[in-house]
Amino acid sequence: PTETPRSGFLGRLFGREPAGAPVVRRVLDDEMLESLEELLIAADMGVDTALRVSANIAEGRFGKRVSTQEIKQALAGEVARIMEPVARPLPLYPKKPQVVLVVGVNGSGKTTTIGKLASQFRAAGKSVVIAAGDTFRAAAVEQLQVWGQRAGVPVLTAPEGSDPASLAFDAMSKAQAEGADLLMIDTAGRLQNRQDLMEELAKIVRVIRKKDPDAPHNTLLVLDATTGQNALNQVEIFRQVADVSGLVMTKLDGTAKGGVLVALADRFGLPIHAIGVGEQIDDLAPFDPEEFAAALTG
Ligand code: GDP
Repeated sequence: PTETPRSGFLGRLFGREPAGAPVVRRVLDDEMLESLEELLIAADMGVDTALRVSANIAEGRFGKRVSTQEIKQALAGEVARIMEPVARPLPLYPKKPQVVLVVGVNGSGKTTTIGKLASQFRAAGKSVVIAAGDTFRAAAVEQLQVWGQRAGVPVLTAPEGSDPASLAFDAMSKAQAEGADLLMIDTAGRLQNRQDLMEELAKIVRVIRKKDPDAPHNTLLVLDATTGQNALNQVEIFRQVADVSGLVMTKLDGTAKGGVLVALADRFGLPIHAIGVGEQIDDLAPFDPEEFAAALTG
């Protein structure tokens, strides 16, 4: 058997191995372990997770001769094991409408993700209503309307600067009256004033509960995977202002550092409902832990 000629992610551990070269085995010593830790940290896995994953890989192998392939497989196995429990599609409720509150910082891909989700639900035969709850950003509302058109889904809006909670209440009434399957509510993503955001989200939740005490059924936090470890901070912050039930990770097409997903899964265990893999309407995929682990280890 020959090693892969690419000396990508793990190549640095073993040096470049030309195509067709015999399998190189080296003793897994402290130096190799440290290099492995560094590689995982560089891949955005976060220090704690990187150290634990490295330790797990070294267990039973320390002091023995190992090949790149063996380390790669062990790493992929560790990553898949961490990721499997969080790979869960958005749970669907028999409730009409199922209310999905969408939160996240501006630029994370909230609008785009709502559009993509709306399109998927439509394709599955569900009726969807979107509420453009970021009433402070006219551009965000316009963007959402464009996505609504693409997805063939009505987008409810309110005048700029008006109360998002009152829009959410009206949207609930309309979605209930129409017997819509899903109501997706966009929200503002300004973190500059956490207190304001917290109050705004709390008010939205309070008013929609007047219409359905179980709403929102899901609170999706949209995170940009390219922001690396910052994504961990965003989870911390949003969990303080909202009852986050699951994640959508965007822009995984644009990063070689998807390791942050491992750190997130390891730290919070929140379900990853979907991943964004591009800017087009169909670029939302279910999260596949095996595929992810294989891609991460290269
Ligand atoms: P919002 O401010 O959170 O609503 O963010 P937007 O939905 O407007 O997205 C911000 C930018 O990220 C836009 O240029 C989107 O096209 C882009 N974007 C969103 N999701 C993805 C993704 O999965 N992959 C890529 N490459 N770009 C994305």
